[in-house]
Amino acid sequence: SLTLGIVGLPNVGKSTVFNALTRANVLAANYPFATIEPNVGVVPLPDPRLDELAKVFGSVKTVPASVSFVDIAGIVKGASEGAGLGNKFLANIREADAICQVVRVFADDDVVHVDGRVDPLADIEVINTELILADLQTLEKAIPRLQKEARTAKDRKPVLDAAEAAVTVLDSGTTLFAAAGKVDVAALRELSLMTAKPFLYVFNADEAVLTDEAKRAELTAAVAPADCVFLDAKVESELLELDEESARELLESVGQSEPGLYSLARAGFHTLGLQTYLTAGPKESRAWTIRKGDTAPQAAGVIHTDFERGFIKAEIVSFADLIAAGSMAAAKAAGKVRMEGKDYVMADGDVVEFRFNV
Ligand code: GDP
Repeated sequence: SLTLGIVGLPNVGKSTVFNALTRANVLAANYPFATIEPNVGVVPLPDPRLDELAKVFGSVKTVPASVSFVDIAGIVKGASEGAGLGNKFLANIREADAICQVVRVFADDDVVHVDGRVDPLADIEVINTELILADLQTLEKAIPRLQKEARTAKDRKPVLDAAEAAVTVLDSGTTLFAAAGKVDVAALRELSLMTAKPFLYVFNADEAVLTDEAKRAELTAAVAPADCVFLDAKVESELLELDEESARELLESVGQSEPGLYSLARAGFHTLGLQTYLTAGPKESRAWTIRKGDTAPQAAGVIHTDFERGFIKAEIVSFADLIAAGSMAAAKAAGKVRMEGKDYVMADGDVVEFRFNV
């Protein structure tokens, strides 16, 4: 499955966030995951629609979709030159599908900052500079080879052009993700460039920042088009120890309406370009993970590869139509249930029953 790699400077709260994520995953232990690696946190994606579906279908249980976060060893200045854990760090990050950067915004004199000051945008620049330098190294190594290839193979020319455009963007200090549209990153996929991956920023904040709309807006704008989430990692770990009522009170006291981990799971899912469709029956109401743009047979393949191979058609009703009608039979009577074929592109929240040959 797709993963977000957690990166950030030392002492910004990465382990605290990651531990909260893995604790959340223990709490969701009824989820049938395959083996979970120790450095992977699998977090359920909060989905209130499942409870509503379970009511309509009398489902015994609900099974949410999930998002995977990988804890990647700390980055330090000079990582691109192999300093510290540099090389291992870069190898791990290449394997992730998106980059989740934890950034310190909390003030706490007891927690030392590597550069002696709390400055989130400067910290982001330190990390992104390392990633940019590493990508530039990759490109500088690749370009002479691409030039040679482009001389004899016409289809290598777009790759060379994209590589040269990428160098220009990176030289200006911008990540390829932030420069979306300026470089044909699809042509560069073979190079596994790190800054071409989608970015998600986690601002590890304290109450003062969480309740400061102007500060939040400023940081949000600074990292756009990347998604960002504001949370207090310390509060998140405390929340997991509390019963529901005390947890709600603690959240309210820091001006939050839901746990930051929920927002993080949702943002992570969005950053990876994923969406869900739903199935429901007496056994379970369940959310399944697909990529945006997946067709009905591809969606069926997530349940079982046989479903994709033997796909005939999909009986689909939107979640909103189903709930408005009150039952599957009523939705059918109202003409809200459609039969879709193999070219149908799934929409988020489609409630589906597949017909297939085995
Ligand atoms: P990492 O090096 O990025 O993994 O950072 P850690 O998660 O180990 O956190 C470093 C220190 O900062 C620890 O002492 C944490 O308890 C503390 N810390 C983490 N998050 C917060 C936070 O939101 N607020 C405060 N005040 N301290 C935090």
